[in-house]
Amino acid sequence: MPPSSSTTRPPSPRGSFGHALAGLLDVLLPSDCVGCGAERTQLCPACRRVLTASRPGPTALPWAHAAAPYAGPVRQLLLAHKERGALRLAGPLGEALGRAVCSALGTRAGAAPLLLVPMPSARAAVRARGQDPTLRLAGAAARSLRRAGLDARATQLLRHARPVADQSGLNAAERRRNLHGALTVLPRVRRGLAGRQPVLVDDLVTTGASLAEAARALAAAGLPARAAATVAATGVRPEG
Ligand SMILES: [Zn+2]
Repeated sequence: MPPSSSTTRPPSPRGSFGHALAGLLDVLLPSDCVGCGAERTQLCPACRRVLTASRPGPTALPWAHAAAPYAGPVRQLLLAHKERGALRLAGPLGEALGRAVCSALGTRAGAAPLLLVPMPSARAAVRARGQDPTLRLAGAAARSLRRAGLDARATQLLRHARPVADQSGLNAAERRRNLHGALTVLPRVRRGLAGRQPVLVDDLVTTGASLAEAARALAAAGLPARAAATVAATGVRPEG
């Protein structure tokens, strides 16, 4: 009798099962570097260095710091993590995000326990991907900060209060109008957060309109954000 494996085919990678499968394969199989295509390593030393050696700096919003410009390997790494469920990239990307958090807070980083608040993904996107990449990045950043001796945790506090129009093609003022009132704070998760410094975190900042709306929602709920941090930024090049 021939081995039954000759008749099995991989299921089509679709929906959350497909992403769970992609995540499993991500763990099991060696793959090429998502940053540059170098063979047999998911993140080659050169691309890892782009992340670890970058110096975080301010973005379009002075209170939001990014670890690196959104270009080259960093862009490829973020896309693979967000769109293709490359779970193992959460570690190095979270580390970069942690450094951006410290850069944004400066000397206040160690002044009080930190609460990393990820930007909420649209529910449809979470369903389609089977996971929330921004929440995972926030968790990885909190772990990296704890390894550095800081008290940090990540909690999702924000959700969409209403649908928003696609932001692409809108200028900064139009984005602000489109987003005003779009986010709200979840009512049930506020316990145990007293005394923590909320810091907004995201994978990418462009105009900063989404982060500004998130800051408005947190402030309206009595939890003003001290700063924001992202892995990457477009437009403005982060500097030391
Ligand atoms: Zn590479």
